Amino acid sequence: PSPLGPTPKLVIDLERLAQLPKEKAGALARYAATIQSQRGDYNGKVLSIRQEDLRSLAVIYDKSPAELTEELIGWGVLDAEARRAVEAF
Ligand code: C2E
Ligand code: C2E
Ligand code: C2E
Repeated sequence: PSPLGPTPKLVIDLERLAQLPKEKAGALARYAATIQSQRGDYNGKVLSIRQEDLRSLAVIYDKSPAELTEELIGWGVLDAEARRAVEAF
């Protein structure tokens, strides 16, 4: 096992996401809303997403998963722990 503990989850801050301009965050917001709807998970302040979904989002944003993760950390949508989740790819 890693000395830093288990691989952290990718946890989207939905309140922060809702504050961002649609030009930037619209695609991510629609993706998150779709996952919430599929799960029936409507009332959360955060949403844990699959690592596979970050790969799909990276394709949508035309970035590598690591680059997209840095952007989302910069927006305050992911916390810095998410870097370790993406290193595990
Ligand atoms: P599915 O992928 O066939 O998963 C069926 C159920 O297995 C899920 O029902 C959930 O209870 C459980 N499950 C599957 N993978 C995981 C996991 O990694 N962690 C946890 N905690 N549970 C898991 P649920 O949540 O009602 O989702 C229904 C369907 O909605 C899923 O069927 C899947 O097609 C879609 N879905 C839900 N959340 C996500 C997501 O984060 N990403 C993607 N790509 N699809 C999702
Ligand atoms: P955790 O994964 O560290 O999540 C901590 C808290 O963040 C959760 O407390 C919940 O308030 C929020 N949270 C995280 N991801 C989501 C999300 O996708 N949707 C929503 N609505 N809230 C989210 P909570 O619910 O009391 O759960 C405490 C702990 O119990 C979780 O810690 C996790 O370790 C476990 N847990 C809860 N539900 C599931 C589940 O469906 N699958 C698995 N594998 N563990 C779960
Ligand atoms: P988690 O529930 O703690 O699951 C951690 C990892 O265990 C998942 O990482 C996945 O690799 C594996 N896993 C858990 N349940 C299943 C399952 O039913 N089928 C398969 N094939 N693998 C499973 P992953 O995929 O990166 O997901 C990260 C977190 O996103 C999950 O943590 C959970 O909080 C959330 N999540 C992912 N998919 C679903 C889903 O379909 N429904 C719900 N409610 N939550 C999900």
